[in-house]
Amino acid sequence: MTMEKVRRTKIVATLGPATDAPGMLGRLIAAGVDVVRLNLSHGEPDDHRARAIAVREAAQAAGREVGVLADLQGPKIRIETFADGPVQLAEGDSFVLDCRAGVPPGDATRVGVSYYGLPSDVRAGDVLLLDDGLVALTVHEVVGSEVRCEVLVGGKLSNRKGLNRQGGGLSVDALSDKDKADIRLAAEIGADFLAVSFVRSADDMHLARHLLKLAGGRAALVAKIERADAIPVLGEIIDASDVVMVARGDLGVEIGDAELPGLQKKIIREAVQRNRAVITATQMLQSMVRAPIPTRAEVLDVANAVIDGTDAVMLSEETAAGAHPDKAVAAMQRICLGAERQFEPKEDLANVIHQLSRTDQAIALAAMVLAGQLGVRAIVALTESGATAQWLSRYRSAVPIYGMSPSASARRRMQLLRDVQPVEFSHGEKQSMAASTRAAVRLLFEQGKLLQGDSVVITYGDRVGHVGGTNTLKLLAVGPDGTVESRREL
Ligand code: PGA
Ligand code: MN
Repeated sequence: MTMEKVRRTKIVATLGPATDAPGMLGRLIAAGVDVVRLNLSHGEPDDHRARAIAVREAAQAAGREVGVLADLQGPKIRIETFADGPVQLAEGDSFVLDCRAGVPPGDATRVGVSYYGLPSDVRAGDVLLLDDGLVALTVHEVVGSEVRCEVLVGGKLSNRKGLNRQGGGLSVDALSDKDKADIRLAAEIGADFLAVSFVRSADDMHLARHLLKLAGGRAALVAKIERADAIPVLGEIIDASDVVMVARGDLGVEIGDAELPGLQKKIIREAVQRNRAVITATQMLQSMVRAPIPTRAEVLDVANAVIDGTDAVMLSEETAAGAHPDKAVAAMQRICLGAERQFEPKEDLANVIHQLSRTDQAIALAAMVLAGQLGVRAIVALTESGATAQWLSRYRSAVPIYGMSPSASARRRMQLLRDVQPVEFSHGEKQSMAASTRAAVRLLFEQGKLLQGDSVVITYGDRVGHVGGTNTLKLLAVGPDGTVESRREL
């Protein structure tokens, strides 16, 4: 009997009109989606409520666990509308951004901006990027509420396009009133993850966490790294978050595309070192919004993110508004599996030892050393919150980690962790730990995840149901019918 290859990198797919088609959610889940994203920049609260319910139904029908990530719009600065549809701007034209309430619809010479702080944030010579940089303006002068510009890169400009300053530094608040309402919506929906857009500082994350808690939400917090201002304080932001997203769309606009590859690697490395999960996002398979297959460059991009060590890769428009949402997920699945064969397990664990400060961390490190040395089939973590599974998965190894937890929300959170496969498992109140470990091994054997003769490393705490209590490690061999044998020789 051979075992099916498990994909180690996780797939996040954004929901939208294209995934509302009958049967599509089921196909996406069958194709391998681990977490779905509700993009709160689009649609009405009721759309998101309905999609969250539909996802849970489809996941249950498939016998799978799928996490839900609610993604706040954030304080994206946008131009207002034009009176007669899109305008065409040519290099050298004058163009005015009028930053006050109640500005009439614009034309080819001016348009409103609803961020009233813009005139005090910019000065002559600044470059403003519209529509992700497709149009660029140089600030000429600021007069009252008017930011008078000259067109640096011409092009078509349509209603409500985004506005960034090259190099970052706009001081708009991290959470808009809409974001605050959407935090309550995320709590109501029971989202497993809440993503905060345009984060500038650890304090932005603390504020979001505070508001989420007030709303009764228990989601893990995702910091979207997409502003130049976030880079100098990256470590602090990561520490204030549970998950980090390399939000390459807006980040590329602010810092310039040439900086993106280096930053992607840095953000992934820092997140993993600081025991956080990391999602790589935006335009990964962009051509699949229309085409049924990805370009070679896209294949390489996804594969390189896997090799960089990302936990998850994300699809945006490809699934939300694409012609082939299920094919995009299938392509991700295929490319990840291929890339994982190239992924080098980290040989040298010695340099992480000085970071040890907790018992569960120490157990995780010991488990990874054993796994690397002894050729074990799997690492099994009996975990309440999933914390130990997360520590385990921060080391680059080639072995699957089964995070066995009675908590459905802990299992859905583990869906985002590279190498971790969550499994539903209750320890049984009065059971001894020896009985629990036997039951866990037998369950994995029955599910076809372990075979007779396999070695496994198993970690747990001696107080069952206690969060953060992992202090024990065992090395076992699987006997006939999923029974447990102690290993006598190594
Ligand atoms: P968005 O975030 O899709 O919400 O803009 C991701 C990004 O900017 O890359
Ligand atoms: Mn963004």
